[in-house]
Amino acid sequence: MSRLVMKFGGTSVADIERIRNVARHVERERKAGNDIAVVVSAMSGKTNELVRWCEEASGLCDQREYDAVVASGEQVTAGLLAIVLQEIGIPARSWQGWQVPILTSNSHGSARIAHVEGRAILEGFSARGEVAVVAGFQGLNKETGRIATLGRGGSDTSAVAIAAAIGASRCDIYTDVDGVYTTDPRIVPKAKRLDRVAFEEMLEMASLGAKVLQVRSVELAMAHKVKTFVRSSFDDPRDPKPGTLICDEEDIVEQQVVTGIAFSRDEAQITLRQVADHPGVAAAIFMPLAEANINVDMIVQVASEDSGATDMTFTVSTADFERTKAILQKAQPQIGFQSLNGASDVVKISAIGVGMRSHAGVAARAFKALAEKGINIRAITTSEIKFSVLIEAAYTELAVRTLHSLYGLDKA
Ligand code: ADP
Ligand code: ASP
Ligand code: MG
Repeated sequence: MSRLVMKFGGTSVADIERIRNVARHVERERKAGNDIAVVVSAMSGKTNELVRWCEEASGLCDQREYDAVVASGEQVTAGLLAIVLQEIGIPARSWQGWQVPILTSNSHGSARIAHVEGRAILEGFSARGEVAVVAGFQGLNKETGRIATLGRGGSDTSAVAIAAAIGASRCDIYTDVDGVYTTDPRIVPKAKRLDRVAFEEMLEMASLGAKVLQVRSVELAMAHKVKTFVRSSFDDPRDPKPGTLICDEEDIVEQQVVTGIAFSRDEAQITLRQVADHPGVAAAIFMPLAEANINVDMIVQVASEDSGATDMTFTVSTADFERTKAILQKAQPQIGFQSLNGASDVVKISAIGVGMRSHAGVAARAFKALAEKGINIRAITTSEIKFSVLIEAAYTELAVRTLHSLYGLDKA
C-alpha cells in the first residue's frame, strides 16, 4: 500500500459540514488503497481569536504559555475529524504533536521541527488499519517537553515533515484555492493557476508574501524530495483536480521568465538622514538590531557627496518597527545620524522566476511600467531569480496588476 499525507487548512475545516466533506476526500483516497495520515489546521478564525486573547491578557506574554493556548485549535479539529471518519465507518485516531511525537526546537511561537518519529503512525496503519489524524502547527519542545507551535501557517510544515518521516509517496495540501496561482487570485482575478512550480520559485514566492504555503514547508519538501501538491478541498470529493505540483526546475517544460508576483504588507521602512560616512557606520546601525533578533531586509545607502554624510534606508517587519526605532534612537550617539524617519504604510512587491537567470532587463521593464503609472519606488533589491520594490501601500493592487500584465501572466 502506498502512503499519503493529506493536509486541510482552516477554511476546509471551518464547520462540521466542511469536516464531513474532508472525510469524503479521505474516504476516496482510502478506497484507492492508500494508508493515510491527515494533518488538520484549526477551524478558520480560531487561531486569530486565540492569539488575540493572549495579546489581551498581556502585551508581552510568555511564549510558552502563548503556545499552550494557540495550539489548542488544532486539537479540536483533529478530534472532530476522527469522530466524523469513525461515523462513516473508517477506523481513525487523532494524534497531538506530543503523541506522535513531533520534536521541535526551543523557539516557542516559531519553533522548527527537529525530528518526527513516524513509528507509532505506521503501526496504526499496519496493526489497526487506522487513518491517523494529526493536529498540525504543534510539536513538543525536545529540550523541555513543553508544547510548541511552528509559526503562523505551520500546519503545512507539519504535513510535509510527516510525509518525509513516514515515506509518503505524496503530500496533498488542500486549501481554499485549487492550486498555486501567478499571484494571489484574491487581488488579481485574472491570475492563472500553474500546473507546476519549481521549488526555488515557490520558496521565493512564499518568503515574499504568498502565504499559500509556509516557507519552511517548501524548504522541507525540497530537502526531502516530498512530492507536494496544492489543491482544493472544495472540489467534488468524487472528482477532484490534481492542483499544482511543486517540483524540480528540470521537470518544467515551458518555463516563463517571470512565474509569479508576490506582495508583502508586512514591511516598515526606516530612514536615517545625515549619517556620518566612515568605515564601521553600517555595523554601528545593524549590529544592535541583529543583537535584538531583528531581521533587516532591503538596505539602500545613498552615496554621499563631499559632506561626509550619507542617508541610509532599510526595511524591517511591521512587528519589529517600534522596537527598531527605539533601539536606533538609543544608539544615536554612537551612530551619529541627524534624523530618523519611519513609515509603515509601505508594501514590498516582488517578481519571481527562474528564467531571470538568463534574461537581462527584466527588472528595468518593471521600473518603467511602474513609473508610467505614477508609482514611486522607495527601495529596490534584486537576486538571481527575483527582484523586489518597496512602494506606498495605497498602490499595492495597481502595482501587482501592472506587473502581472507586463510579464504576460494575465489569462488569455
Ligand atoms: P489554509 O487555511 O488552507 O492554510 P491559507 O489562507 O493559508 O489557506 O492560504 C491560501 C490563500 O493563499 C488563498 O486563499 C490565497 O488568497 C492566498 N494566496 C496568496 N498568494 C497566492 C498564490 N500565488 N496562489 C494561490 N493562493 C495564494
Ligand atoms: N492554525 C494555524 C494558523 O492559523 C496554523 C495553520 O493553519 O497552518 O496559523
Ligand atoms: Mg495556510
